[in-house]
Amino acid sequence: MTTVTSAADGTVVSIHYTLRDDDGDVVDSSVGNDPLDYLHGASNIVPGLEAAMTGKQVGDKFKVTVTPADGYGEVEGPGPRPVPRSAFPDDLEIEAGMQFFVRGPDGEPFPVWVADLQGDDVLVDSNHPLAGETLHFEVEVMSIRAATSEEIEHGHPHGPDGHGGHHH
Ligand code: ZN
Repeated sequence: MTTVTSAADGTVVSIHYTLRDDDGDVVDSSVGNDPLDYLHGASNIVPGLEAAMTGKQVGDKFKVTVTPADGYGEVEGPGPRPVPRSAFPDDLEIEAGMQFFVRGPDGEPFPVWVADLQGDDVLVDSNHPLAGETLHFEVEVMSIRAATSEEIEHGHPHGPDGHGGHHH
């Protein structure tokens, strides 16, 4: 396997990150958990962060501010719409922020998020919960390695050595 030292297309990059909103509140963070592994160039992470990652090296620490357009998008569409709770599996615990995939008119899956729960309805929105938000990332690059051909084919990383228990 080729040795790589900087984040580029076809590398699996492991990062620790903390994401804050405009108020400085922590929205998400890997710190204290496993770092996030992603395949560079495969849109595993938001475009603004991926662009900022390009060329970064192990040990680099940096901050980047990402606009909604380069993050989770602007808020669009009609907003949350109610779906009967009975349309979801009984044994599934549904909470705000959960992501589901539904099929569009052409059969293509697209993501929706649970915005809220209201009586017997689940309010579902096509907007990511962070749509419209400016994202403030603080990142530390933990490791970088060449992706396997299988990972590139799948468009995502497969565990620390590229062969983690993942089949699909
Ligand atoms: Zn895979």
